[in-house]
Amino acid sequence: MSETTETIFSKIIRREIPADIVYEDDLVLAFKDIQPQAPVHILVIPKKPIAKLADAQSQDHNLMGHLLLTAQKIAEQAGLTNGYRIVINNGVDGGQTVYHLHIHILGGRQMKWPPG
Ligand code: 5GP
Repeated sequence: MSETTETIFSKIIRREIPADIVYEDDLVLAFKDIQPQAPVHILVIPKKPIAKLADAQSQDHNLMGHLLLTAQKIAEQAGLTNGYRIVINNGVDGGQTVYHLHIHILGGRQMKWPPG
């Protein structure tokens, strides 16, 4: 996977390809993962095309906070009262496949540790 800022997620933001969108505001978009790894698997992305967590800058401070607090709100709205897992895969060793920063919200089953 090349690290370009134009990804499938940019196309989802522009509504060029369909997605099951669960939340949107000026800064972020959230939609269901196409290959869910848990009963609830939602991706929360900034509309700004930051390729990966390691590329976020100090000027993204508020955006990064908003991203995490939005994930918290979406998890609550999804009914994950018994807990959930937040994952950010960063880069090759992190297992990142889409180079547009995203938070995974995983829930609805007992998570295991350590992750694979
Ligand atoms: P990563 O491995 O980069 O952390 O996660 C990328 C996630 O995006 C994967 O869980 C994958 O299933 C999901 N994904 C990839 N392409 C699409 C797509 O076109 N639509 C949706 N909704 N999810 C996608």
